[in-house]
Amino acid sequence: MLAEIITIGDELLTGNTVDSNSAFIARGLTERGYWVRRITTVADDVDEIVAAVREALGRRPAVLVVAGGLGPTHDDVTMFAVSKALNRPMELREESLRLIADFYRKLYEEGFVDDPEINEARKKMAYLPKGAEALTNPVGAAPGAYILQDDVMIFVLPGMPREMKAMFEQEVLPRIGGRKFIQAKFLAEITDESKLAPILREALKRFNVRIHSSPKGFGRYIGIILFGESREEIDETVRFLEAHGIKLEDQRL
Ligand code: ATP
Ligand code: MG
Repeated sequence: MLAEIITIGDELLTGNTVDSNSAFIARGLTERGYWVRRITTVADDVDEIVAAVREALGRRPAVLVVAGGLGPTHDDVTMFAVSKALNRPMELREESLRLIADFYRKLYEEGFVDDPEINEARKKMAYLPKGAEALTNPVGAAPGAYILQDDVMIFVLPGMPREMKAMFEQEVLPRIGGRKFIQAKFLAEITDESKLAPILREALKRFNVRIHSSPKGFGRYIGIILFGESREEIDETVRFLEAHGIKLEDQRL
């Protein structure tokens, strides 16, 4: 099961914001057994987003997550661009509009904004691609969208990390199902990755696991992350590595 992620925002491309969203989404998808094959970052630009979405769909992933640029301002063009990429018109959702109105009324009552009414900028967030399912935003105004097109499950999420995380957990995870992958982290008492390489290669052949190893610096131990579908599979791999002289210290995730 392949997956792709597209994060959107000028601030990500200038280096002003570190793209923590894609790491969070990638971790979640990986734990569900998806293989994230590509993470793309593009500007708040309709043509760039359309091109990135179409390219990703052309690779036929099972899941495509798009995050960022759902807000009320002029530079938030993601939903419009996704609609365009999918050749679907935008349509106003009365239910989403009502939720957005409730959200701002509450912010007004709590003293966070000075206008409780729906205006054009706020209304813009209630437009979704035709046929999309609105995804609830439990901590913000902009709804997300879920669209199934050509067997690809497409999720469009907000960019604010707090909103993205809440929507990913409440709306995305229950829809993508999948077997839960187990991750285990170890420190290997070995300092030279090249010594480790042939043993890891052999382990990959024998066991149905994925292995990531990363040196912690010269002369230091090497971190190893094992991904498997069951604890038994990971334990078996650990026994194999230890039988080949690699002492592993469990780091408990
Ligand atoms: P909003 O309604 O808040 O405008 P939005 O969906 O339009 O939501 P963005 O405009 O993309 O979100 O970003 C809002 C905030 O979230 C910004 O402060 C931005 O730096 C941060 N942000 C956006 N994308 C990411 C990301 N990939 N990783 C980390 N932070 C991000
Ligand atoms: Mg925004």
